[in-house]
Amino acid sequence: MISVGDVIQLLPDHVANQIAAGEVVQRPASVVKELIENAVDAKADVISLIVKDAGRTLIQVIDNGGGMSVTDLRMAFERHATSKIRATEDIFSIKTKGFRGEALASIAAVAQVDAVSKRDSDEVATRLIIEGGEVRDQSPEASKAGTSIAVKNLFYNVPARRNFLKSNQVEFKHIQDEFLRVALAHEQIEFNLYHNDSEVYLLKKGNLKHRIVQVFGKKTETQLVPISEETEIVSVKGFVGKPESAKKARGEQYFFVNERFIRNNYLHKAIVDAFEHLLPSQYVPSYFLYLEIDPSKIDINIHPTKTEIKFEDEYAIYAVLRAAVKHALGQYNVTPSLDFEQNPDWAFIPSVPANGTIKSPEIKVDRNYNPFEQSIPKRDVEPLHDLYKSFSEFELENNHPEAILDKEEFESVEINAFQWQQKYIITQFKGELLIIDQHRAHSLILFEKLKKSGEENALSQRLLFPVEIISNPSEINQLKNIERDLLRFGFDVEFTEDQILVNALPTEIEPDNVPGIFADFLTDLELHDKINFNTEIAKILAKNAAIRKGDALLPEQAKHLAQQLLTLREPNFSPYGKPVFVQIPESEIIKKLN
Ligand code: ADP
Ligand code: MG
Repeated sequence: MISVGDVIQLLPDHVANQIAAGEVVQRPASVVKELIENAVDAKADVISLIVKDAGRTLIQVIDNGGGMSVTDLRMAFERHATSKIRATEDIFSIKTKGFRGEALASIAAVAQVDAVSKRDSDEVATRLIIEGGEVRDQSPEASKAGTSIAVKNLFYNVPARRNFLKSNQVEFKHIQDEFLRVALAHEQIEFNLYHNDSEVYLLKKGNLKHRIVQVFGKKTETQLVPISEETEIVSVKGFVGKPESAKKARGEQYFFVNERFIRNNYLHKAIVDAFEHLLPSQYVPSYFLYLEIDPSKIDINIHPTKTEIKFEDEYAIYAVLRAAVKHALGQYNVTPSLDFEQNPDWAFIPSVPANGTIKSPEIKVDRNYNPFEQSIPKRDVEPLHDLYKSFSEFELENNHPEAILDKEEFESVEINAFQWQQKYIITQFKGELLIIDQHRAHSLILFEKLKKSGEENALSQRLLFPVEIISNPSEINQLKNIERDLLRFGFDVEFTEDQILVNALPTEIEPDNVPGIFADFLTDLELHDKINFNTEIAKILAKNAAIRKGDALLPEQAKHLAQQLLTLREPNFSPYGKPVFVQIPESEIIKKLN
């Protein structure tokens, strides 16, 4: 008879910690969040974050907060060690960020930690070295008051996790997001972020508006509408962005509850609702809203990383938020005076000058140009920017004209064309009437040309005065990732701390188009981690440089545009997949004349 002994064992602590770590430490950004929140809880007023290789090799947070005694420093890395709750009742009135007491233990289980801490009253600091949850060394050390925790080689003992990390660009973006979420909630604390020895953010103490402007750039300064509302259940303060600062991608939307960043789709809808009729449908307003609620009326414990919380009275909070935002927008005279149908791209593009200056479409026939490759429009792809929808009169959507004029035909046929409504070019082709959308047609012509030039180092024109665009460190970081693509297209771009300087342009682009183009690049970069940049850049350039609805054309120019279009191999759809023209056969006209 084989006797089987008891099989249940308590997991050794370091194993339990590694398992817990799976919940708390998903990526470098999780470490950043926990360490910074601890520093805030320790009442620091200067907090620095130092990161190397997107946090793979180093994440270090240095604070000037209260520090820890020798024993507390050792204790801090034990599981369920926290100074923040003593009894379960405390959980319901928690004011600090942490309280589960498992962050440091979890982090230490999956990294090499070098921690130094000193209280004001202590003579010397204590240094503790921990590897994979095991204390390796403890020694006194000379240091100033506060705490420094360096987390090195994250996941060095968990290869599966390490391999799961995304590109440095993506991981660093997450780190930056976590950093900003805390920094935006604590404007009275100085926050610094360094990545690979260069400064990314140096955020001095100031008021809330200062903080937002420091983070998102000077251009934000005039775009913030203040919100302030006190009710029994909730108090709300902060800012919403004016409608013209809204973007098509989500990005600058921040809710904080009791100084903690949270996500909440339901409350997001309250804000979007308040902007009804002020924004075209796909645009998202930016907001920075700070709610104060009695901690006993919320449950922050439902999510291990605590970005989701439950409210006792969600509907009432929805109503307060919506009313507060509406009220503020009304007070600041932000009323729906803009007609989006008329000018759908107003958020990005400077309007066409009213003096009616006619921009000559500098199109020349390139006889050697072979536009065969890859120009089949993808109709199933959601167009990113093209808001034009007003062509339904002609049922353009259902029209798939086959008409193509080949080069020989083109040379022998004299095209007659004229502009109508400053939007269309009317011409005829093989006995049918063609109504061409001038913007889409020109976009397509430019797109084909630009796509080709982007593949082989485009011609560039140097500007006497660079175009200056006010920006912010986060946007600049994103643009740096595509600097080389831009160079290939003929853009020479330089970055300062909060400005983009464009020194040279592709020959097809006017300086006036540059701000719209860069706004579009950023929207695209926010929507996609990785884009087929040649095609995307060409699309964006073409869209911005093309003549617009409302641009007057000389008869010669109208004719030239029609000729250009009809020599394309695939003239039917714009780069964003929209029909470029409608064909009306004579039979339709005869029917109507009956
Ligand atoms: P929690 O924050 O949930 O209490 P942590 O594991 O994050 O748990 O931290 C454990 C404890 O270590 C904290 O409760 C706090 O007492 C102490 N501690 C952590 N970081 C710091 C710091 N930067 N300064 C002072 N004390 C700290
Ligand atoms: Mg903590």
